[in-house]
Amino acid sequence: MNPAPRPPYAGCVAVVATRHGKARALRVPLRRLAGVRLRTPRDLATDALGTFCGSQPRTRSALETVRAKARLAIAASGIPRALASEGSFGGDPTCGLLALHQELLLWRDEARGIELLESCTRPVRHHAVQEVADLAQARSFARRHGFPAHALCVQPAGLAGGAWPNWKGVRDPALLAFAVESCIATSPQRRARLLLDLRAHCHPERMRVLAGLGARLARRLATPCPECASPGWGVHDRRTGLPCAWCGTATAQVAAWIEGCVACGLRRERPRADGLRAADPGDCPQCNP
Ligand SMILES: [Zn+2]
Ligand SMILES: [Zn+2]
Repeated sequence: MNPAPRPPYAGCVAVVATRHGKARALRVPLRRLAGVRLRTPRDLATDALGTFCGSQPRTRSALETVRAKARLAIAASGIPRALASEGSFGGDPTCGLLALHQELLLWRDEARGIELLESCTRPVRHHAVQEVADLAQARSFARRHGFPAHALCVQPAGLAGGAWPNWKGVRDPALLAFAVESCIATSPQRRARLLLDLRAHCHPERMRVLAGLGARLARRLATPCPECASPGWGVHDRRTGLPCAWCGTATAQVAAWIEGCVACGLRRERPRADGLRAADPGDCPQCNP
C-alpha cells in the first residue's frame, strides 16, 4: 500500500495577520490538517484598517480589508504566505433582533500566486448594546451576554464618537464596576454605554467560528487540484435548483456543490453528500407558494 501523499504545504510556515490572538483558534486545524505552522508578527498595525469600537472606522469592504491585512503581514514578516481574517457584524444590536456575523478567512500565497477564501454568515448571539444608569443594570447585561468569557467595552453615553474614553476587553468584575461608575460620572447623560467586545480574542463565539473556517481552509490547502496539482482544491460555490419531488419545479435548495481550483480554474460538480435527488414539496414555489 502506498503511503498517504504529503500535503502540499507540509512543513511550511505562514504568518497570521493579527494582534488579537486569532492564531489560538487557527493553529491546531492548520497544523493537523495541512501541516502549516503559524507565526504571529510583532506589532502589526492592523487597527489602522478599522476597529469595532468605532475609534477607527472601516472604509473598505471586508474582502479588501482582509486582503490588505494579509499583504501587510507578508511585507512585515518576509514570509510569502499569510492567513488573515475579518469579521463584520450586521443588523442593529439595539433592536433586540438577532444580528448577523460574517467572518472571512483568507489564505494568500505570493510564491504560488494564489488566494483561497472561506467565509461564513450566521446569527450571532452575543452582540448587543445597552445604556445603563447603574451598576445593577450593567451586571444584568453582563450576565445575559456570557461575561466574563465574553469581554465588554464600556463608554460614557452621549459623548461624540471617536473621542470617548473607552474601556475595552473588560473581563474582571471589579474592573467592570470601576469602568461603569467612572463612565456614568463623566457622561453628560449620567449613563454608561455597554457593548460586547467583538475582537476575536474577546469573543469565544467568534473564536469558534474562526476555528471552523480554519479547518475548512486547511482541508483545502491539503487537497491538490486533480488537473494541475496546485493546493487549494475545494468547494467554491453551489448550484441551487433541486427539483421538487412532486412536480419537478426547481427549488432554492442546493442541487450540487461546485468544486474548483484557484490556480487553473478547473470546475467540477459534486453531488450532495446526503444523496438527496428531490426537494420536499414544502420548499417548492409551485406546490407551496
Ligand atoms: Zn412542486
Ligand atoms: Zn488546478
